[in-house]
Amino acid sequence: MTRIGIIGNGVAATTAIREIRSKNQDVEIDVFTDERHSFYPRPNLIDLIANRRTIKETIRYDIDWYEKNDVDLFLSTPVFQIDTARMAVISTSEDYERYDSILIAVGCRPFIPPFEGLDKNNVHVIRTLDDALDIREAVKGSGREIVIGGGILGIELAAAMKEVGGDPIVVDYENRLLPIQLDLQGSNVLAKQIEKKGIQLLTGYECRGITGEEDATGIISKQGDEIKGDLVVIATGVRSNTLIAKNSGIDFHHGVTADDHMQTSAKGVFAAGDCAQWNEKWYGIIPWATATSRVAAQNMLEFGSSKFEGITPSSQLQVAGIDLTSIGVVHPDSPEYETHVSVDMENGKYLKAVLKDGVLVGGIALGSRKVALKLRSLIMKGEKVEDHSSIFDDV
Ligand SMILES: Cc1cc2nc3c(=O)[nH]c(=O)nc-3n(C[C@H](O)[C@H](O)[C@H](O)COP(=O)(O)OP(=O)(O)OC[C@H]3O[C@@H](n4cnc5c(N)ncnc54)[C@H](O)[C@@H]3O)c2cc1C
Repeated sequence: MTRIGIIGNGVAATTAIREIRSKNQDVEIDVFTDERHSFYPRPNLIDLIANRRTIKETIRYDIDWYEKNDVDLFLSTPVFQIDTARMAVISTSEDYERYDSILIAVGCRPFIPPFEGLDKNNVHVIRTLDDALDIREAVKGSGREIVIGGGILGIELAAAMKEVGGDPIVVDYENRLLPIQLDLQGSNVLAKQIEKKGIQLLTGYECRGITGEEDATGIISKQGDEIKGDLVVIATGVRSNTLIAKNSGIDFHHGVTADDHMQTSAKGVFAAGDCAQWNEKWYGIIPWATATSRVAAQNMLEFGSSKFEGITPSSQLQVAGIDLTSIGVVHPDSPEYETHVSVDMENGKYLKAVLKDGVLVGGIALGSRKVALKLRSLIMKGEKVEDHSSIFDDV
């Protein structure tokens, strides 16, 4: 009988389980996670902090789900190495041996810049359910919250804090918000919408460290400007978990490198999700995790049955009353691209379409769900757009 070992229990791992079980009921599946909770989608953590969900509602698959799917789930079992010769998964307590295939789906960890004062109380990151519970508790007793990082996560977190009575400020060293998903003009429109919600923003602020004795009392910039606050959350990006690959002699760069079958440099060992890099590409988003893990799962069942061809990256900001989608190429960097923009600062609308050889390859829709859907559908179709002005037609 075939045995599959999956390291990690996030969306990549659970997508792989679903994919395997949709095709095969017999293969044995073991899943190892360093977390004490079973699977929850990470976007639910924002709802948990905003008190829109309970812990029970945050978790999507409880233990029963694994039992129903005939999966052995090992909670609180961190893996630190794979013995590729024995096809063994080596955890801190035990070795689990003789897998036919192993999937590395260990995701990312928050990137923490080398700020001074990181050891103070009330300095947090947000990645896990336990992080979210800590932040939810800390917001209750805080006077003012500082979020370092004006990316999607930082903004969604600040909005959640505001919802439960907090008084958050978001700072970023860049001169704009969401630098991956937006250009400067789009960021300015978004900033106005966010400030209308009572969330303070400060861009161009280069944080140097956290101030205070034992407890955080604020942050200080490289220029010496201090911002007072008694809860600090660092949301300055993520880095792939590559330690298992490193310990196992498996190739990695930004992530664990995988070929078109999502197989790593070790035969029979696959990688998927936030920890996986393919064709020099790497994204920390759910569409990447699900697409790479489906391909990995198919090849674990029948090697060669599926090839990964990439995704068109797409992100949405999930803040009530603000509709923002950013998809595909949004920072065109050569004259081959043709760009069209429509701005309506007062009504919080910013629309951008990026075309190459007459075909839509990317865009931004802020303030219009209809245009967002149109961008997505035109990009998927990949056909020539005859009249580019019709893209922004949202009636
Ligand atoms: C608060 C928040 C909100 C987000 N919102 C969105 C969103 O709206 N849209 C979107 O596209 N993306 C969003 N993301 C990003 C998205 O959650 C990730 O892209 C996705 O979780 C990646 O899935 P994954 O399975 O690859 O990794 P993860 O979800 O990180 O899962 C990795 C798993 O591996 C386990 N693990 C790690 N190391 C080990 C080890 N050594 N041994 C055993 N187990 C280990 C972890 O505990 C975890 O179970 C959000 C992220 C956060 C934190």
